Amino acid sequence: MSSYVSLPIFASTLRERYRLEEPRCRSCGTLNVPARMACIECGRGDFDWEKLTGRGRVFTYTVIARGGAPTEFDEQQIMSGSLVVAIVELEEGAKVVAQLTDCDPEEVRVGSPLKAVFRKLYDQEGVVRYGYKFVMDEERE
Ligand SMILES: [Zn+2]
Repeated sequence: MSSYVSLPIFASTLRERYRLEEPRCRSCGTLNVPARMACIECGRGDFDWEKLTGRGRVFTYTVIARGGAPTEFDEQQIMSGSLVVAIVELEEGAKVVAQLTDCDPEEVRVGSPLKAVFRKLYDQEGVVRYGYKFVMDEERE
């Protein structure tokens, strides 16, 4: 199984921030991630915002070596070496792109259990941005 995902696509979605609250369609029950004006399944526009569990698994991932990430990550890369970015398949079925943190890139596998944590994302023009990252969930297999 290939885990290759083009880096430009990965990097461009990195800037999106996920609050882990996503709209579920009132008509057909489909979770719409990212949020849309009209449901991706049935085209209606009534949603209930649902707080997600933050639990998921690695669907696919990539390791971005030093120098390969957008410049706002420079400081972090100097501290930690490489960035691990994953497409996370959430328990609710939706997929999000997020950075993995506090993990050894060598230990990440497709299917590894993850949980969301709230962390500093990066510092840009003096403004610290926060959002969700994922860590390995040691309590699950
Ligand atoms: Zn719908």
